[in-house]
Amino acid sequence: MENKRYDAVIVGGGVIGCSIAFQLAKRGASVIVLEKQEIAQGASRAAAGMLGAQSEFTTDSPLIPLALKSREIFPSIVEELEELTGIDIGLVQRGLIKVACSKEDGVALEQHYQFWKQQDPSVQWLSMKELQEREPHVTETLYGAMYLPGDGQVRAADLSIAFAKAASRFGAVIKEYTEVYSLLWERGQVKGVETAEGRITSDNVILCAGAWSKQLLKPTGIDVPIFPVKGECLSVVTEIPFITSTIFANNGCYIVPKKGNRLVIGATSQEGTFHQKVSVKGVQSLLERASAILPSIVEAHWENVWSGIRPQTSDGLPYLGEHPDIKGLFGAFGHYRNGILLSPITGVIIADLVEGKTYESIDLSSFHLLRVVPTSM
Ligand SMILES: Cc1cc2nc3c(=O)[nH]c(=O)nc-3n(C[C@H](O)[C@H](O)[C@H](O)COP(=O)(O)OP(=O)(O)OC[C@H]3O[C@@H](n4cnc5c(N)ncnc54)[C@H](O)[C@@H]3O)c2cc1C
Repeated sequence: MENKRYDAVIVGGGVIGCSIAFQLAKRGASVIVLEKQEIAQGASRAAAGMLGAQSEFTTDSPLIPLALKSREIFPSIVEELEELTGIDIGLVQRGLIKVACSKEDGVALEQHYQFWKQQDPSVQWLSMKELQEREPHVTETLYGAMYLPGDGQVRAADLSIAFAKAASRFGAVIKEYTEVYSLLWERGQVKGVETAEGRITSDNVILCAGAWSKQLLKPTGIDVPIFPVKGECLSVVTEIPFITSTIFANNGCYIVPKKGNRLVIGATSQEGTFHQKVSVKGVQSLLERASAILPSIVEAHWENVWSGIRPQTSDGLPYLGEHPDIKGLFGAFGHYRNGILLSPITGVIIADLVEGKTYESIDLSSFHLLRVVPTSM
């Protein structure tokens, strides 16, 4: 590889690395993204693409301001990316309906509703009649439904690819099939990375390797509690549109309507594995849960199955910030189930930090690389 010096080296070409590359390149920095496979082949390819800023949070969390801000800036980012790249990212803003499949879930959903209702009058509790009017194919045997009009969705892989292409329009180099073996630093200053194709030098390195970030960071003295959570999804195609909004059940199953009458059904959750084979058990449980919510799904045509590895952390919060002992080394990983939603804001925050600015609008102390977290979950 040519021995060029970059303003910033980004390790990992998922949605997070590509969003940061886009922001930095747009601001005039020379950037290289190093991806061991292809762009958007990790969790960012597998995601259902929900922008669940409200559906994901049932009580207060330091992530809420970030999630709401990211959802708010999504439409302008999508417009900008589509204009720069010509890629249709499939932003749909028809809301999300959260439903309860048992009496117990109904109580939890009611509390979830009360939490958001106090802050956002647009959030609605739906009677079964109102639900049927909105979504006639959804079963009537439910124990509650809440409509979150602000929670939209995108096509996750297209978003990541658009970030990467837009970054390259601003001069970023996207280097696929280039694994980073180690981070390099000297006397408290990052110096670059060692790759399969040699050394790349830079005073700024941003680690965005998703669930694979732990091993690269460990030699720097920080052992982050981040672990893989495999998620399986499947898709079917229907003759006519069955639903217009995303339906998300408290039983952990969601159905996301995509262009062309495709329905993405997700997702299973299996901790502690990096293997990505799709299990019959997983598919069976998804189909059972989905058909309990949307009985006519059995009439659909089979399309595909896949899986991805979510980067989970012990306290459920991502790591965002500079290494406390190594100047110029930044972390942006651990976005678990919300990396698509959080990608625009993560790009802005990390680009600000790399430029030496402090991100003023939101308190980032909860995302610090050295925060004290429980060691097990
Ligand atoms: C089934 C499923 C459904 C999901 N649904 C949603 C959803 O609806 N909404 C939402 O917001 N989020 C969702 N998520 C979560 C979201 O996908 C993740 O939070 C997000 O993709 C994380 O992005 P990332 O860039 O950090 O990680 P990844 O996309 O995993 O990218 C990390 C990249 O780093 C590369 N890499 C690793 N090690 C190295 C190395 N040493 N050198 C070079 N490259 C390296 C990997 O190959 C990978 O491409 C879902 C996830 C799954 C699995």
